[in-house]
Amino acid sequence: MRSSDLLIRRIVIVGGGTAGWMAAAVLARFLARAQVSITLIESAQIGTVGVGEATVPVIQALNGLLGIDEADFLRKTHGTCKLGIEFRDWARQGQTHFHFFGDFGAPIEGIAPHHHWLRLQDRAPLGDYSLPYVMGKLGRFSLAQEGYKYAYHFDASLYAAYLRANAEARGARRVEGKVVDVSLDVASGFIRDVVLDDGSRIAADFFVDASGFRGLLISEALHVGYEDWSQWLPCDRAVAVASAPVTCSAVALTSAPAVASAAALVSTAAPTTGGASAASGDLPPYTISTARPAGWQWRIPLQHRTGNGYVYCSQFITDDEASSDLLTRLEDRPLADPRLLRFTTGRRRQSWSRNCLAIGLAAGFMEPLESTSIQLIQTALARLIEMFPDRDCDPVVSAEYNRVSANEWERIRDFLILHYCATQRDDSPLWNYCRAMRVPDSLQYKMDVFRSSGRVPLYSEESYQEPSWVCIFLGQNVFPKRYDPLVDSIPIEHLKSGMRQRVRAIRQRAESMPTHRDFIDGRVRVVA
Ligand SMILES: Cc1cc2nc3c(=O)[nH]c(=O)nc-3n(C[C@H](O)[C@H](O)[C@H](O)COP(=O)(O)OP(=O)(O)OC[C@H]3O[C@@H](n4cnc5c(N)ncnc54)[C@H](O)[C@@H]3O)c2cc1C
Repeated sequence: MRSSDLLIRRIVIVGGGTAGWMAAAVLARFLARAQVSITLIESAQIGTVGVGEATVPVIQALNGLLGIDEADFLRKTHGTCKLGIEFRDWARQGQTHFHFFGDFGAPIEGIAPHHHWLRLQDRAPLGDYSLPYVMGKLGRFSLAQEGYKYAYHFDASLYAAYLRANAEARGARRVEGKVVDVSLDVASGFIRDVVLDDGSRIAADFFVDASGFRGLLISEALHVGYEDWSQWLPCDRAVAVASAPVTCSAVALTSAPAVASAAALVSTAAPTTGGASAASGDLPPYTISTARPAGWQWRIPLQHRTGNGYVYCSQFITDDEASSDLLTRLEDRPLADPRLLRFTTGRRRQSWSRNCLAIGLAAGFMEPLESTSIQLIQTALARLIEMFPDRDCDPVVSAEYNRVSANEWERIRDFLILHYCATQRDDSPLWNYCRAMRVPDSLQYKMDVFRSSGRVPLYSEESYQEPSWVCIFLGQNVFPKRYDPLVDSIPIEHLKSGMRQRVRAIRQRAESMPTHRDFIDGRVRVVA
């Protein structure tokens, strides 16, 4: 039997970046009836990372649960919609492929469409069978329908402010102050309270460490170790800078790689999944990721500016070189000086230890290649609510939390590594290293099965389903030796006309949608 004095009554969150305010909003929403007090401590002296502009579709569930109105949210965060990511020069220089949040259509006779596509000799690029890809290529956008989902690009600082208002409206309390000490209970090793720079102490039953890379509670107080994954994901720095928004003509003039991708789009022989940038206008509904000799560069279109960054490996380029490379490749004038960020890819060995759960950068970091950090904060919070503990924080509960969490992180890690190892680039030491590196067994197995059969084995806690893996495998020229043998039982003429019909129907649906720019202007105007 549970005694009422075992109930958690006070939660303290340390950190007011995206992670801290997401935690405050979610906990205030779900624990309101349990009368748990939520206090968030943050220090204006320390500041936030402030990047984190691209998301994945699961964020819609979060916004929905928090009662967030989409139009209001887009307006206040200067947001745009995101159908996926265009990858330029990752497979090899001049080749473009994509990973969009959708599939390649319904299975045919129970078999995934990419097997049928592989059978066709004279075929359209695989992307033409994917509605979100064609929408992206045409710069169109509409609220999600069958076959795709969407996410957002936004100003990360404005999103944190938006969540703060949401959390405070539900009773979360903010305390300004710098945590200078953490005291532990000698017998249990639990955190008892945190000490602020003005000498005050704030006690709680449960602590959320959202203090960023340092991991003030989870690492500095509880000494949980860190699992370093940089042998597989060697980029360890980024420079980020915002630039003025790009006009239509500027995009057309400066997006040189798009010429190569546009050629690939009409080529039926090239083994490509296509590129999206050709006609997408001044506000493409997707992120662009361009591989560079020492890493890769992101471009994220917001309403009022473009987010840019260069993620790189410091072994192969200096910070100054990376900054100047980023600045020379901007499509419009920079709005500030580039900001340097250092990180080590990996995760805490346990993100839940005793009465402390680490989330966000305090829990670990995988580079932003697939924009998964905010997603990982969200799933961590969902798991906390699902496994909400008593005040004694039974170690069996936290161990289960950590097991599921480790699986989730490792599945994403493998997906990111695939982008690096499945390259044919041989123009720089970084790519030569990545092409030859030994990958984790879990990923090697997936690659072996795909190469052999075109099938993708999925483990538990996979964030990415088969169409996503297929996008990256085929997009980076990892072709299977054979496709599903049952595909051959379908008469070829029947298959060809069915596949042609799919391409036509997708194109017509995409063409009937408004442009992304019109969609955003319309949504924002509704509430302005
Ligand atoms: C280069 C780069 C690009 C990224 N791009 C993306 C992306 O596109 N999509 C995505 O999902 N994620 C992205 N991320 C990750 C994303 O930025 C973070 O996951 C997100 O911002 C959460 O950060 P945080 O809140 O954990 O930490 P921070 O933003 O660092 O916040 C830490 C907070 O802790 C407080 N704090 C620290 N020490 C103390 C103290 N002693 N006392 C009191 N308060 C303290 C600070 O004041 C601050 O409020 C990116 C990260 C990097 C580095």
